[in-house]
Amino acid sequence: MAYDRDNVFAKILRGEIPCQRVYEDDHALAFHDINPLAPVHVLIVPKGEYVSMDDFSSRASTDQVAGFFRAVGATARTLGLPADGYRFLANTGVHGHQEVPHFHVHIFGGAPLGRMLQKVQAR
Ligand code: AMP
Repeated sequence: MAYDRDNVFAKILRGEIPCQRVYEDDHALAFHDINPLAPVHVLIVPKGEYVSMDDFSSRASTDQVAGFFRAVGATARTLGLPADGYRFLANTGVHGHQEVPHFHVHIFGGAPLGRMLQKVQAR
């Protein structure tokens, strides 16, 4: 799948759409999700043009991968989440229910989050 430069996170990275910024460095930008599913729900996006986790993990340089995951950890620390814990996930592709085609990690926290997923039956 080719990268779509008109996706909403590309527009946020270019400053064309506002966001509630939490953290930023050379590798990544973190901002609050517009439709939070937990008391804390933040998205971290790499600054490079990657469609998904699959795209990022296969094409990004070692520096970009390391820098991005350090930014995820730094974002969680900025939010004060490590003491009580948090969850991060990356929806990927159709089965992963990825809606925005720019790789991103969700961080959830601020309350007990329950089990990781409701059991899903094979179809
Ligand atoms: P995903 O299903 O992993 O692609 O999730 C995309 C997420 O982006 C959803 O949780 C949306 O609420 C969030 N989202 C969409 N547009 C915006 C926006 N303009 N600012 C912040 N979050 C957004």
